[in-house]
Amino acid sequence: MGDVKSQDALVIGGGLIGLSTAYQLLKTLPHLKVTVLEREARLARVQSGRLPGVLDSGAGGGTGLLGASFCREGRLALERFCDEEEVPWRRCGQVFVATGEEEQWLRQWQQRAEVAGVACEWWSAERLREQMPKLSGASALSLPETGMVDYEQVCAKLAHRIHELGGEFVGNTEVHTLTAVSEGVRVESSQGSFEGKVLFNCAGLQADELARRAGAAPDFWLVPFRASFLELDAEGRRWIDRVIYRVPRPGALFGAVRLIPAPNGRVECGPSVTPAVSRDLRAGWIRAWKDLAAQIRYPGFVPMLSRDWPSALREGWRRCRGGNLIDEVREVVPELEAWHFDAAPPGLFARGLKLDGTFEHELRIIRDGRMQHVCFVPESGGAAALQIGRTLVGQAISYLL
Ligand SMILES: Cc1cc2nc3c(=O)[nH]c(=O)nc-3n(C[C@H](O)[C@H](O)[C@H](O)COP(=O)(O)OP(=O)(O)OC[C@H]3O[C@@H](n4cnc5c(N)ncnc54)[C@H](O)[C@@H]3O)c2cc1C
Repeated sequence: MGDVKSQDALVIGGGLIGLSTAYQLLKTLPHLKVTVLEREARLARVQSGRLPGVLDSGAGGGTGLLGASFCREGRLALERFCDEEEVPWRRCGQVFVATGEEEQWLRQWQQRAEVAGVACEWWSAERLREQMPKLSGASALSLPETGMVDYEQVCAKLAHRIHELGGEFVGNTEVHTLTAVSEGVRVESSQGSFEGKVLFNCAGLQADELARRAGAAPDFWLVPFRASFLELDAEGRRWIDRVIYRVPRPGALFGAVRLIPAPNGRVECGPSVTPAVSRDLRAGWIRAWKDLAAQIRYPGFVPMLSRDWPSALREGWRRCRGGNLIDEVREVVPELEAWHFDAAPPGLFARGLKLDGTFEHELRIIRDGRMQHVCFVPESGGAAALQIGRTLVGQAISYLL
């Protein structure tokens, strides 16, 4: 049996959540030996490397841990971090736009934002035209607290601070198993064995799978989705100065179209979301088929399709035609023409599929003794990453003192 590398804390996953956790650990207890185990050669290559960059205001107001005040605290902490670390960000505001019949759903968003205590303002069509002349809509909801940030830079700065505080990053290391041992947790990986007093499983798309291997039982299945984006050219960019969401139909399998300006001036439109075969960016066909078979076998898969097959078909059709995303964007910004759009790199994201075929919207952390599994992070979770990290550390601290 090879050497076991002993640490105080092991963090699986060098994405936004894993890095935030390692950073909060070292800020709280600087003497700790903390190691981040990451499957890729570099940090933040998967979901966190391809985030559209919304600093969510928390208007969606989850009912679980990721509630309004948690989101607000998290967002403010991230804004402070960005100021200190000179990561570009801007509180640019957000507008949810409704065209015709969607107005009733917009009212639901307004109610949710008000209940969550998030600043919002209802705009009539005239007010919308006055504020954003290029936008077309019957009404809109303005959320001035939403911002935008470059998450890749946030991750880079977090990694830098972790390194300065004595933390270690071990890349090209795929974790296979996690086992509770006396006074700790043991990890078997492609680079050998590690032991820590505590373990944080922040493995993104693989987090539920690792949790199951460790004996936990998440009641949902992470389903991978490929999100495609388009980018606006220099002229189109000038018209979009804040985050724009077309209001999504409640419970829709796929969200509605968005336009998201980045701090560097780029504006992305999308996503056009389609199911992906595998959770793994580099999956060979055997792994891909295994992943697909596991997805289809999951009891929530058929209810998911039967619940919203029109939206699934529409998305499939859109994908075949390619251009449909442009039509959807043009419903909100009619002056955009096909030549204003360029292709942007796609991303792979997780959604948590529940047994009844609906998707998980709450942050899901399973605590199992010295292990904590961050099994699902919803869309608003990135902005609250530092707060999530702080919560995880708070729950593990008794094992570390
Ligand atoms: C369509 C979509 C858009 C989103 N947009 C936003 C947004 O604009 N703003 C926002 O705040 N949030 C957004 N989110 C939420 C976002 O996905 C999360 O906030 C965040 O990126 C999750 O980070 P993570 O660290 O959990 O996962 P990841 O970034 O995926 O990191 C997990 C890491 O674990 C590693 N890993 C996996 N398995 C193993 C293993 N076995 N061994 C070792 N390492 C492993 C992976 O290589 C990866 O680097 C969006 C989500 C979706 C679905």
